[in-house]
Amino acid sequence: MNIAVTGGLGSGKSTASRILAVAMSAEHLDVDELCRQQMHPGNLGFKQFVEVFGNRYLLPDGSINRQLLRQAVFADSRVKNDLEKILHPIVQRQVAEYYVQCLAAGKRLVVEVPLLFEVGWQHDFAVCVVVYVSEELCFNRVAARDGFTADAIQRICAAQLPLSEKCKSADFVVDNSGTFVSTVKQIAWLGEKLLGRESDGKCAK
Ligand code: ADP
Repeated sequence: MNIAVTGGLGSGKSTASRILAVAMSAEHLDVDELCRQQMHPGNLGFKQFVEVFGNRYLLPDGSINRQLLRQAVFADSRVKNDLEKILHPIVQRQVAEYYVQCLAAGKRLVVEVPLLFEVGWQHDFAVCVVVYVSEELCFNRVAARDGFTADAIQRICAAQLPLSEKCKSADFVVDNSGTFVSTVKQIAWLGEKLLGRESDGKCAK
């Protein structure tokens, strides 16, 4: 079984997906991390990046100037789109290939996919879980974690579907507005539910 965990910026995707993976004895992948890895020199994403952008965003040592690129992505939607056009197909393929390996090894897979519905990957997964918190709480947790300004947080959130919309498309919603303990309890319940579905043969993928 493969399970996608999504949500909003700072809603708790990373926290929840890692707990779910432990609860289900599953492998765990983080799509953001795979994208970051692809941007390292020598990887396919980096190669295609240089083909599209030349050396505009490279440091003298040949690696990507992440700060400059981040600013460009914020300022210009064409840069963001071009970057996504490079990375998304590569990473989507990587996740699919990894899942084939998991299936062969009899393992389950939990994947943290921040923009699951925005990029239309929901059909790649047997189950889609959305991690919900209120906008205000999201804001406070991201500010505490990343030190981003209110303006930066608002801009990132504006580029995503509202969390309430994502919840409507979810198979399951985890409400991460409470304590860690409350979240762990919900995920323990969810893990058991999904394992039950699996043993009933109700998970298609
Ligand atoms: P995301 O992966 O969606 O960006 P994280 O899982 O990294 O979100 O959570 C964002 C921040 O909020 C982190 O610093 C995390 O430790 C904190 N956090 C997550 N869940 C809770 C919770 N239930 N209570 C308090 N803080 C939380």
